[in-house]
Amino acid sequence: MNQGFFTAKQTESKSRPDGKTYSCASCGLYKNCKTPKMEPYGKFKRGILVIGEAPGKTEDQRGHPWQGKAGRLLQQTLHNKFKIDLFEDCLCLNAVSCKPENNRVPTNYEVDCCRSKVLKVIKEKKPKLIILLGGSALFSVIGYRWKKNLDGIMKWRGWCIPDQDFGCWICPTFHPSFVLHGEREALTVWVNDLEKAFSKVNEELPKYKKPRIEITDNLFDISIKANGTIAFDYEATGLKPHAKGHRIVCCSVAINENRCYVFLMPKSREGRQPFVDVLACSDIGKIAHNMKYEERWSAVRLRQPVKNWIWDSMQAAHILDNRPGITSLKFQVYVNFGIIDYSSEITPYLKSGSKDGNAINRIYELLELPGGEEKLLTYCGWDAIWTYRLAMLQMKEMNYDDLPF
Ligand code: URA
Repeated sequence: MNQGFFTAKQTESKSRPDGKTYSCASCGLYKNCKTPKMEPYGKFKRGILVIGEAPGKTEDQRGHPWQGKAGRLLQQTLHNKFKIDLFEDCLCLNAVSCKPENNRVPTNYEVDCCRSKVLKVIKEKKPKLIILLGGSALFSVIGYRWKKNLDGIMKWRGWCIPDQDFGCWICPTFHPSFVLHGEREALTVWVNDLEKAFSKVNEELPKYKKPRIEITDNLFDISIKANGTIAFDYEATGLKPHAKGHRIVCCSVAINENRCYVFLMPKSREGRQPFVDVLACSDIGKIAHNMKYEERWSAVRLRQPVKNWIWDSMQAAHILDNRPGITSLKFQVYVNFGIIDYSSEITPYLKSGSKDGNAINRIYELLELPGGEEKLLTYCGWDAIWTYRLAMLQMKEMNYDDLPF
């Protein structure tokens, strides 16, 4: 499914920049274990794929995963708390299929080398739910598709991601050995995460309508359609509007979850006036992802502060979950809607590469490229659509659905 510019296939890579390929031969772990390339294990009766880190010493000796202490904790927790039999109901696989020496954590390179095996199992078995246990499993299944810093399991655990590329729920949580050796609270959090994950096993993935993103120069028409509530988003020449030379390049206005208008910001005051009137209208509720950005640019460059802000989906994301590093629209879109990377082609052009907060970004460079303008406008449109959808989801989660907007 392609809801952005790329599919998972297009972003997959089989070779490193240094020309090395990812293979068993280049990894070499298979040479030093008793059970090289351990096969997935379990009868998979309930369609659950459990992905761990790598076989340990006991697993390597016995030829099956989850035979040691961590495995016992996993088996017992699943059985006692959720009536799930690890080897009957699930299929067990590791991010790395061969035992690393001295029980060490596999390197990212080793996980890269083993990824094709993991992806093959997902493709062939079509699990309903994938549980990712720990950082190596996370890196294996999400790391290669997530273009920004992946960070650790702490920021990913507890989400139930309706992953649209794989067509199943992906639920990351702690590795059981972290739970064994960690604080007591880790066990409570882990059991809660697993409970949420297993509640998804028979829930269909949400499906999204393809939105209509219309590129237009008829701002008067937008001002007529924009009533009730809008989500809007700017792409501008930088982070802050005050310094000389800065301007809003384009703007998107979503009037509902599936309909959005996008336009290049007219250079003349008269040209912009119908949109400025929308900003000034206190009957129209306004939503943005990080409203202080849109507020500042509106006030400084359009000389019109925004009237009637009703929601900031970035602040709401923080209120719902105050972990660091999770409030960006891209992260929220992936964990809530399962769409990964709808924008990595565009985002480098929206950065200046300089530490100066007043620097001009590379947006004009993008506009010069063949098809660059359309890409920028479409991306801007997606941002407003996702902002609208996210805000609606958050309102539901916070029981705001009976408010009059
Ligand atoms: N730890 C894992 O990650 N996998 C196993 O199979 C056993 C222990």
